Amino acid sequence: MSHTYNIRQAAVIGAGTMGRGIVISLARAGVAVTWLDNDPQAITAGIAMLAQTWAQQVAKGRLQACEADACLERVRAASTYAELADADLVIEAVFENLALKQDIFRTLDSTLKAQAILASNTSALDIDAIAAVTGRPEQVLGLHFFSPAHVMKLLEVVRGARTSPQVLDAAHALGLRMGKQVVVAGNCPGFIGNRMLATYVAEARKLLLEGATPRQVDEALQAFGMAMGPFRMYDVVGIDLEWRARQLAGSGMDAPLAQVDNALCGLGRFGQKTGQGYYRYAPGSREALHDPEVDALVLKVAQDLGVRRREIDDEEIRERCLLALVNEGAKILEEAVAGCSADIDRVYLYGYGFAPEVGGPMRWADQQGLGLILARLERLQGLFGEHWRPASLLMRLVAAGRQLADVREGRV
Ligand code: NAD
Repeated sequence: MSHTYNIRQAAVIGAGTMGRGIVISLARAGVAVTWLDNDPQAITAGIAMLAQTWAQQVAKGRLQACEADACLERVRAASTYAELADADLVIEAVFENLALKQDIFRTLDSTLKAQAILASNTSALDIDAIAAVTGRPEQVLGLHFFSPAHVMKLLEVVRGARTSPQVLDAAHALGLRMGKQVVVAGNCPGFIGNRMLATYVAEARKLLLEGATPRQVDEALQAFGMAMGPFRMYDVVGIDLEWRARQLAGSGMDAPLAQVDNALCGLGRFGQKTGQGYYRYAPGSREALHDPEVDALVLKVAQDLGVRRREIDDEEIRERCLLALVNEGAKILEEAVAGCSADIDRVYLYGYGFAPEVGGPMRWADQQGLGLILARLERLQGLFGEHWRPASLLMRLVAAGRQLADVREGRV
């Protein structure tokens, strides 16, 4: 039987970086929130951070004092799952670990009312594997916010194999109430945004080992119009996140492309938050300063790996990083993980700081001309190998004289 969902009362599990921003977004949209973390201190600190954020907005004239009070009143700390029983929607934002999330979803399934929607803020885990431990897989989906969740405009709504259309509609409506750009993504590792990002970052890391410096890569992409280059982005997000995930998973530590990050983390250089990462930062400042020690570290890692270094120009950096995004984006379109190319562009514009004047990676590719894009990918395939094999969708579009913008749900 179909059911129309009306989300008035939400619950959030996890009071870390993401949980805090999600609670702010919900409360600002007028939704009451019950908040749970297994560390009571995290909730206390989280509520203090909320109060401080809203007080700052009042001071800047962006929020009225009575609205700030109303927002704070909407948030209630909980210490047991029983207190979440009335929630219409729960968003889980605990550590990125499948077994942990599955445990939490089992508990949520057995404690929350039958109509409640269960969502995970996972960055890349399998939504179907999470849904499978519940008795209500049609009410399970991903709600992938970006950091900081109350500032970043993008919300990726991740559709599991069994998520019902009514649940997707409810998530979409809630996203709009929170002022987000909502994009529906299919369930695959990394969804739309992080799946494409993985290919882009892999090229950036290869370029470092082959001869570029972090500053050169970042500046070449910033000159194209990106809000920040990949290494500055890692400094903002925290280089340690992936490093810890590799350690937790017990895999990937030996990968050549992880060696610069491993070396930086080994020195405690986690990024902006520790004052040093790919760049260094003066106390209290966010200005990324060039650090010759990092260039030396990159050189040493490349030598230890036996990579022959050469002069790399800015054009090659842009060519490889942008075409990696385009080729993976085309695969995502072909698999109908994204419904249309404009959705991919919105993910990149609102979630990843892609050059706004260019309008997104897929639009850029269409403007360049897909025939030219295909030829450039084939050239890279000849130079660097099979991972550059062009998506078959690109070949079909070129043969038919069509564009990426003509594709809907995987069909031309
Ligand atoms: P975090 O480490 O800042 O916070 C996680 C919180 O979960 C902590 O407060 C911890 O006490 C709590 N927690 C852990 N186990 C728990 C349990 N069993 N029950 C209740 N609470 C528990 O992590 P984060 O950066 O906020 O990430 C949370 C999730 O969001 C992850 O799945 C992550 O992949 C995803 N995500 C993170 C980002 C980001 O940039 N940080 C962006 C998008 C998505």
